[in-house]
Amino acid sequence: MRIDVLTIFPDYLAPLELSLPGKARAKGLLDLRVHDLRQWTHDRHRTVDDTPYGGGAGMVMRPEPWGAAFDALLEAPEGARPTIVFTTPSGAPFTQEVARELAGRERLVFACGRYEGIDQRVLDHAASVGEVREISLGDYVLNGGEVAALAITEAVVRLLPGFMGNPESLAEESHEDGLLEYPVYTKPAAWRGHEVPPVLLSGDHASIAAWRREQAVRRTAERRPDLVHASVLLDDLEVRLVQ
Ligand code: SAM
Repeated sequence: MRIDVLTIFPDYLAPLELSLPGKARAKGLLDLRVHDLRQWTHDRHRTVDDTPYGGGAGMVMRPEPWGAAFDALLEAPEGARPTIVFTTPSGAPFTQEVARELAGRERLVFACGRYEGIDQRVLDHAASVGEVREISLGDYVLNGGEVAALAITEAVVRLLPGFMGNPESLAEESHEDGLLEYPVYTKPAAWRGHEVPPVLLSGDHASIAAWRREQAVRRTAERRPDLVHASVLLDDLEVRLVQ
């Protein structure tokens, strides 16, 4: 997979050089490039923003640097059609399902907004050179799209085939089966008066699986009843436990 990140704060993406994407790069799974959008400006002040048409507070990112950046990065006609991710609080929520979809793409380009956002025509133009995805990290407003690009990249890269030493660890994670993950424990078996649940020490794999399932359902019903019909599942479990 190739990932390009377009930002006016390339240093913000420095963590991408660290362990996770670094590991993916070493394995030859990821070609990651971070670009300073200002290199596609031509005035002395390297301006990327201007006042909004129609008035209002704040500044809007001008279209020209984005257009020039897309021309430079996406011009190779033989290359895979890119998926251009605009990080925005008005986008579709980022979920594990979206991460899986993006992990199947050959080419991702992140457009990190700043100020009041990017001139809409940049998105309209991007749709003519690639697949456009507008993605939100959550229902809150960040100062810029870089943190969202970091989070999305991390969630996507760990799903790349061949990245995880043990792919089974992915299957059991929160959100993979519509449930939050059960609580996990390691050694020692007793710590500061807190015991590991005895079933986990029993060696009885069927009982351990049943306990974990029950914990996952219970946790999901309590914390995120919106995720699945977890409360129904919980009812079902309680009926079976009582029997
Ligand atoms: N005026 C915009 C609005 O109300 O939707 C918010 C602009 S925000 C201050 C600047 C940039 O931060 C956005 O263009 C976007 O790239 C990024 N951003 C802010 N919140 C985000 C979120 N929840 N998810 C993804 N990106 C976000």
